[in-house]
Amino acid sequence: MKSEINEEYLGEYRKDTLRQELVAMEIAFLVSKESKDPSTQVGACIVSSDERIISTGFNHNPIEWSVDSFPWRNDVNKIGEENTKYPYIIHAELDAISKCNNLNELKDGTIYVTLFPCTQCAKTIASFKIKKVVYAEYRDSLEATCSKRLLEKCGIEVVSYDEILKDNFENEKEAIKKLKLNFKKGVK
Ligand SMILES: [Zn+2]
Repeated sequence: MKSEINEEYLGEYRKDTLRQELVAMEIAFLVSKESKDPSTQVGACIVSSDERIISTGFNHNPIEWSVDSFPWRNDVNKIGEENTKYPYIIHAELDAISKCNNLNELKDGTIYVTLFPCTQCAKTIASFKIKKVVYAEYRDSLEATCSKRLLEKCGIEVVSYDEILKDNFENEKEAIKKLKLNFKKGVK
């Protein structure tokens, strides 16, 4: 019996598959839908250096299952910061990192985030030696500028999802349309 596979049995493989980078960001978008925050829903998905999706997270209050233990309001000027969600909310990046079963697997991994990380999350990302951040949305602010500086100074690669979508995106358009998961970046 011959051990090699006859070429005629190989058949055709699917060509419109999604790269893992796109799958990971789509998962981040999907997970953000779990957030009960009325103003900002953020999702994160972490991929290990050996290309396994190892954790996901979204922004939530410190008692994830309790909706009314902490404030959800965001109007700082009216009610004072201490009465808003800001001091209490756990960000998606920290949520994903803390839900990772084996923290050693974070080293050299990539975190996909629907919104550019704040400085606290950027510091946490750097502490766990995650080596790449892929973000979908960047909101210009002093916080974001410091965060970007921090990540770059720590040698962490920062890539926008737009850049990734530009790269050989044609083959994947149909597949993304079928998935209908890309909530923020509509495929034209
Ligand atoms: Zn954050």
